Amino acid sequence: MEEKQIIEQIERLKRHKNAVILAHNYERPEVVDIADVVGGSTTLTKAAAETSADMIIVCGVDFMAETVAVLNPDKKVIMPDRGAVCPMAQQIFEKDLQEAKEKYPDAEVLLYMNTHAKTKTLADCICTSGNALKIAELMDGGSPILFGPDRGLAYYVSNRTTKEIITIPEYGYCPVHHQIAIEDLKRAKEEHPGVKVVGHPECTPEVQDQMDYIGSTSGIVEYCRDAEEAEFLVAAEVGLMHVLKKEAPDKTFYPVSNTTVCTLMKMPTLLKIREALEREKQRVVVPEEIAIEARRPIERMLEYL
Ligand code: SF4
Repeated sequence: MEEKQIIEQIERLKRHKNAVILAHNYERPEVVDIADVVGGSTTLTKAAAETSADMIIVCGVDFMAETVAVLNPDKKVIMPDRGAVCPMAQQIFEKDLQEAKEKYPDAEVLLYMNTHAKTKTLADCICTSGNALKIAELMDGGSPILFGPDRGLAYYVSNRTTKEIITIPEYGYCPVHHQIAIEDLKRAKEEHPGVKVVGHPECTPEVQDQMDYIGSTSGIVEYCRDAEEAEFLVAAEVGLMHVLKKEAPDKTFYPVSNTTVCTLMKMPTLLKIREALEREKQRVVVPEEIAIEARRPIERMLEYL
């Protein structure tokens, strides 16, 4: 069947079921092109909190769909492929967090969105890469701040705040962004001398240290669109290149590494989206007792925005 026909069927099913499609910036180009809302975690979480749709199709990974389900207990939240499980969210254990809380009884817990709903129940507040620094600064509770699980984002925040940040676990990381080696960046800079480097804080500290701008996926898009420069080296998952080209068509973007691909984010396809709308399988439901507790720190994040 032709892509055009599948898209028409998706549109028809969406109207019929009052559904909305949310897609992360790293999704396949054809998925980005048919989504109602495209963005990073902040954009998608806000959209999920505000939607009046009855059904929400989440093209992203598991913790994103869980967050949408936590905010929408009465709606049908569906992932086109439930195999899209982010490894970073699995790197933090409730036991370690509990132990850290006992060790630092005055600490506040700020967790990255890239955590499971059950883990979020232990947080005082949730953050995304776009607002982690702002929220760390605004949190007026105890000290230090226990932050997890991404040490790249922790490094970014620690370098810009006077607050003490303790990372739980010590070695949480995104296996995709960690593929961008400092040698890749040096090579790219040699090939494109003088071109500004933009990138994601999930990259390693040494790669971050070479960037002119560090931000969330939406932050990178905004920065490049508004900047005077016409060329950029991009240290982020390559799916972002499609969004950058769409949002700033008159500018040129070079990926630092072409192999920086999150295969999990590429799991939703147009066919799977159509099937999700049609059959309503692969529903994401968070048990009520967990959802109630996980909603509190997510809503606190939304209040800070
Ligand atoms: S890019 Fe990294 S953090 Fe994001 S979903 Fe893929 S593995 Fe997880």
